[in-house]
Amino acid sequence: MPDRRTVTRCALARVCGVCEEPLGRPIVFVGDADEDARNTFHQPPMHESCAQGILAAAGPDAVLVRTGGFEFVRPGRDDADPLPRFEPNSRL
Ligand SMILES: [Zn+2]
Repeated sequence: MPDRRTVTRCALARVCGVCEEPLGRPIVFVGDADEDARNTFHQPPMHESCAQGILAAAGPDAVLVRTGGFEFVRPGRDDADPLPRFEPNSRL
């Protein structure tokens, strides 16, 4: 899991969490089944090709989601989830 600063930088600059080059479309997120069900991902957005390496390393339960865009959500003070996170909008 990348550190919080990296996550925030990728979110605000809209660069890939792996190679740090600008993101195009689709934007890809990798997470687990729980993140998939909540439509909330903690790893930064990635290129499709970069995400494949993360997906392979993450194990058999990992999920890959493609989207055209996302919301970056910073946790609130009383948030049950204390981490900054990403919510894909329309999935591709
Ligand atoms: Zn990349």
